[in-house]
Amino acid sequence: MADIIQLLPESIANQIAAGEVIQRPASVVKELLENAIDAGSTSITVVIKHSGKSLIQVIDNGVGMSETDARMSFERHATSKIRETEDLFSIKTMGFRGEALASIASISEVELKTKLHGEELGTHLRIKTSDVISQEYCQTEPGTSLAVKNLFFNVPARRKFLKSDPVEFRHILEEFKRIALAHCEIRFSLVHNGEEIYNLVPGQLKRRILSLFKKSYETGLLTIKEETDHLKIEGFVGNEELFRKQKGDQYLFVNKRYIKSPYLNHAIKMGFGPLLGDEHYPFYVIFLEIDPSRIDINVHPTKQEIKFEDERLIYNYLKVTVKHALGRYNLAPALDFESDKIFSARGHTGMGPGFSQQSRKDTSAEWQSLYQDLNRDTLDLEFSKEDQLVIPSAATGDILGSTLYDDNEEKKPMQIHSAYILLVIKSGFILIDQQHAHERILYERFIHALESSEAVTQSQLFPVTIKVEKANQQLFEGIMPSMKRLGYEIQSFGGDTYIVQGIPSGFDESNMQEIIDTMLAQYRQNIEVRSGNNEALAQSMAKSASLKKNRKLSIEEMRSLIDELFACETPFITPGGKKCFITFELKDIVKDFQ
Ligand code: ADP
Ligand code: MG
Repeated sequence: MADIIQLLPESIANQIAAGEVIQRPASVVKELLENAIDAGSTSITVVIKHSGKSLIQVIDNGVGMSETDARMSFERHATSKIRETEDLFSIKTMGFRGEALASIASISEVELKTKLHGEELGTHLRIKTSDVISQEYCQTEPGTSLAVKNLFFNVPARRKFLKSDPVEFRHILEEFKRIALAHCEIRFSLVHNGEEIYNLVPGQLKRRILSLFKKSYETGLLTIKEETDHLKIEGFVGNEELFRKQKGDQYLFVNKRYIKSPYLNHAIKMGFGPLLGDEHYPFYVIFLEIDPSRIDINVHPTKQEIKFEDERLIYNYLKVTVKHALGRYNLAPALDFESDKIFSARGHTGMGPGFSQQSRKDTSAEWQSLYQDLNRDTLDLEFSKEDQLVIPSAATGDILGSTLYDDNEEKKPMQIHSAYILLVIKSGFILIDQQHAHERILYERFIHALESSEAVTQSQLFPVTIKVEKANQQLFEGIMPSMKRLGYEIQSFGGDTYIVQGIPSGFDESNMQEIIDTMLAQYRQNIEVRSGNNEALAQSMAKSASLKKNRKLSIEEMRSLIDELFACETPFITPGGKKCFITFELKDIVKDFQ
């Protein structure tokens, strides 16, 4: 009897694999986007026709491929991303199995144009059902363009199972959003049937969220940020304004990879507590960062499931982090009866560099509770019981107010040595470095101004002239447009002279020359170390315009400074990493005196 076992022809093996990885057009979008990201692209365009049924094209400006690699990339298990089996345990790139392109090419017509940077000519390859139809040299931009046409044309059963265009397009949008959220440093655009749906510029996460969802989300977003040696959590959760009756937008990422984890989603839900109720779903975009050796992403071919070494710990940590963000926000209304009075009595501080421009709630009590909880429970990451951490908040009925302070007198901050502010809190006292604190406040305000489209209020000056030395002029003129966004209206007056006609309102005009000189010197240093120009500029401006030591502050000014500091995303340190305040715990003081 003849042997009956045969090896499957390669194209059929690919089709079988495709069944696992490519379920619908959206799966192709995901795989191609991940490849473009792995290739180090900074700009990626996605072109879709008929919800991906006739065309899915991804154009990137990444490293590109050599002629041989272009051919190789369609072989199964061809990947440039793992060399040894150990690599499987420390995967940092998105793709790693080397089966996406082979699978896609077995069920569609593929057209690839790719060129390495610095090469004259690129490679143009056409493949249909895994067979190379043509290969030639071509003129093309550096990077890769991969077009997938007529997906599933040779697998009628699959094609029939595709849903209507709107449904398939929704799936594509979903994949696109997940990837765009996880990579806000990359420019993305999405074009469907000739219409540009999104054009996302690189920027901060908040801005990306607002462009992908709704501008009106801005007021509902609460920042979360916690970090330990093993785990970092960052992102945004939506307050009750963003609760939805339908399962809304919930995004959880681990090491920038979108994951589905009912377990961790539950943790987040528990973090929202009774506030959420049973009929509502929250909005969140949360990023966990964990040492890759502590997770196993190779659980499912589409890589959306994940196993953690210490799942329970992560569960608790995530829950507490969300709780903190909400606790911080929920405390404000509880204090209104008191803080409103304080605030209106305070009014405009009239202080130099822009204090209290925005009306902010008195946040001192809420950050104190936050800070105390952080110290006590979160930072050491030891949870014996799930619900160990109780955060006083309006939602749990645990209203703070006067209990935080022993008597009202203690609330008054005091300035010492014209440089530090001493503030007594229930658990001890804190010492704030006024200059560092102000630098942090200005930095966050400037970053916000540079990255949002809101105009900064400006006050007109009786024009002041300043001089910029020749060596710095090019640099200076390069950042003039950004400075304008911060509220500085500056024009060249020929030679080394410039006229300043407007500055952000509330700022001090008396030492413009000094501010600009320090700013330029700082900026020169910063652009070498900071990632983005905006950050470099915001940091330099914050440093040069910040309140200096030897400046007497009124009680009102101190209160403003304190409130604004603790309303910052990162109140603890200056953008340069110096401490803004130091805490002294009563219990340590007591111990020291024993
Ligand atoms: P994987 O991503 O798992 O390695 P793929 O089948 O998706 O497998 O891709 C195979 C290989 O093709 C990749 O490892 C990479 O070397 C190359 N490749 C695919 N897409 C691109 C791209 N957009 N730019 C550069 N190289 C790419
Ligand atoms: Mg891939």
